[in-house]
Amino acid sequence: MSFEEKIGLEIKYSEVMADIVGILDEDKDFVAVTEGILSCICKKLHFQSAVLRQKELKGDKWKILSQYGICDKVYEEEAVVEAFERTYINEKEDVYLPIAINGRVSMHMAFFDALLPEYREEYRTFLETVRLIVQSALAKRIVQNSLAGSYASLEAIIENVGCGIFVYDSLNQKCLYTNEYYRRHFRGNTTNNELENLLQSGCGHTEFFVNENNRWFDIYNSSIQWVDGRKVTLYTIYEVTDKKNYQQKIERQINNDFLTGLYNRMRCEQDLEHFIKQTKEFGGQGALLYIDLDDFKHINDGLGHQYGDALLRSISHSLQRVSGIENTCYRMGGDEFIIIVPHAQFNMLKTILDDICSIFTKPWFLKGADYYCTMSMGVARFPEDGNTVDELIKKADIALYEAKKTGKNRIEYYNDAVESISFKRLDLGKKMRDAARDAGREFEVFFQPIMGVDGCCQGAEALIRWKLDGMGFVSPAEFIPLAEYLGLINPIGEFVLMESCKYLKRWNDMGHPNYQVNVNLSVVQLLQNDIVTKVEKVIREFRICPENLVLEVTESLAVNDMGRMKQILGQIKDLGVRVAMDDFGTGYSSLNHIREMPLDIIKIDRCFVQDIGKDEFSESFVKMVAELAATIGVTVCVEGVEEREQYEVLSRMKIQQIQGFYYDEPMSASQFEEKYVKKQD
Ligand code: C2E
Ligand code: MG
Ligand code: MG
Repeated sequence: MSFEEKIGLEIKYSEVMADIVGILDEDKDFVAVTEGILSCICKKLHFQSAVLRQKELKGDKWKILSQYGICDKVYEEEAVVEAFERTYINEKEDVYLPIAINGRVSMHMAFFDALLPEYREEYRTFLETVRLIVQSALAKRIVQNSLAGSYASLEAIIENVGCGIFVYDSLNQKCLYTNEYYRRHFRGNTTNNELENLLQSGCGHTEFFVNENNRWFDIYNSSIQWVDGRKVTLYTIYEVTDKKNYQQKIERQINNDFLTGLYNRMRCEQDLEHFIKQTKEFGGQGALLYIDLDDFKHINDGLGHQYGDALLRSISHSLQRVSGIENTCYRMGGDEFIIIVPHAQFNMLKTILDDICSIFTKPWFLKGADYYCTMSMGVARFPEDGNTVDELIKKADIALYEAKKTGKNRIEYYNDAVESISFKRLDLGKKMRDAARDAGREFEVFFQPIMGVDGCCQGAEALIRWKLDGMGFVSPAEFIPLAEYLGLINPIGEFVLMESCKYLKRWNDMGHPNYQVNVNLSVVQLLQNDIVTKVEKVIREFRICPENLVLEVTESLAVNDMGRMKQILGQIKDLGVRVAMDDFGTGYSSLNHIREMPLDIIKIDRCFVQDIGKDEFSESFVKMVAELAATIGVTVCVEGVEEREQYEVLSRMKIQQIQGFYYDEPMSASQFEEKYVKKQD
């Protein structure tokens, strides 16, 4: 090549370079830039067409990104190009410039149909330089583009996340950014200012309530570096309405009584503590009223629980409407209520008491009829009667018990004289432990006659009584569960069994060899390992006729562990002792039990008798059980017969025994002996 030619080439190279750099410098998009480069090289180096192609991510195809001139060539060289890393010129003098991005050849520029082929080889070094420049410029652009792409997608994510974002520059007091969620929820409504003030005051983790639509938000903050390097605060705001509602519901459940909606015992104790503290600080006094409904059990048992519940709700409702105590009524459980009269209302105490009393002078309409329900109340005052929660509740309870004992339906104020006697009630458990040690002293077994339908006595059921000094009799329905709980039922039960067998033997020997005595066995007793041995021992000790001893078990317990029950009862029956199913119909009644359990007697619960003549179901239930029992040879005893009409209905059924006030109430052994043993001689 001549010197002139060389100079000419050098000049051309510098022109091409200058053009390329100029094109790269322009702020144009990728296609425009690459088209510019292709066209510039083609024009200056005399190619007719050129193309920039990129290898597709999937498969082996190359796709055109930009081109110059008309390219209708089949490019056989592609596979080869990919293998090269530098400028490649084939025999036809087509030029390929492989372009590596991130170390991999993923594009190439190809120039075709050279018009002046003679200089091709001379271009090689120059083209290699062009290749390197274009490669680095394109690589840079691609990286920038993908950054821009990821920034754009990041922003799209932030705009659309399910929480509010608020970026605040506290130094310059400027909001730098809010996302779509934030703007949608807070911008343009009246709470916005409130929220922005809160955020700008640099709050920590906090809650925010939007009054307009009852929504709750949690706000978190963190310090971040903004794009330009300054420190700013990023607030994220999450909606927590559901969580909050759930929390409030739980709190209500913790503080409120489910049935009546009144506050419960826990809340009562909290509030009382607060009011006591207030009187300590500001002086004045307050009162605690402890209310217990009189004979509520009758309504509950007589009408059914749903009516008992309805009554409790109505009473609660009325209590809450008494002015001065709207927010200080509490249900302590069962039929017990507490009312606090805080010191601010203490001057109204008399009116409050009058208003409460008048609630109970009116009848309640339940199950189609009017029922009266009275209440007894104990009153303790603070601080004079006590200044702790426990002490006040205890003292109001003592006064209440006094009101009950002295005739119910009245109000009793606490005074110290009352305390000395009534304190005993409060540690029934301790008293029972003492009593059980010497059962004969405080417990006594009563007997209620069991009659045949012909009106002749057939024996008695043994029913325990607990005589407590100064407190009269405590009902077995009340203390048997306690005895079971305290693990004292076994010694107490043994006492009853011994007493019963003692009298059974005596009465059998006094001319009534067929009299039976029924003894109630609690489930705890029955499931004892040595219960069979114990019964056997008593039979031997008192030399009784085993068939005259009847052990009563309850139905509800029978289902717990049927297999075990059947086995134990079977062993008891093997001794010759008879077994009765007590309170039949009240437990998890299954008529199958009649067949499956080794029974001799079924005692139909008194709740079915009460409704005889009023309720068809009860009557047909008793009748059906009687029929069924007759076919399998089981004796039927009906409990709780109180009236002549009941007796008459029952006497027409297949019933063998009757027990109830219609004949007699439970009585002491000596009374029973007087009335049913001696007289019949
Ligand atoms: P229960 O075995 O069903 O006893 C019958 C209960 O009904 C007795 O109550 C009895 O006084 C009462 N009653 C009898 N006739 C009538 C009537 O015509 N009308 C009404 N309204 N009631 C009547 P009590 O003596 O208060 O005993 C209650 C429960 O305590 C007994 O129910 C029994 O389950 C349990 N119990 C009593 N003594 C013992 C005992 O020594 N050991 C065990 N484990 N439980 C006992
Ligand atoms: Mg019984
Ligand atoms: Mg019973």
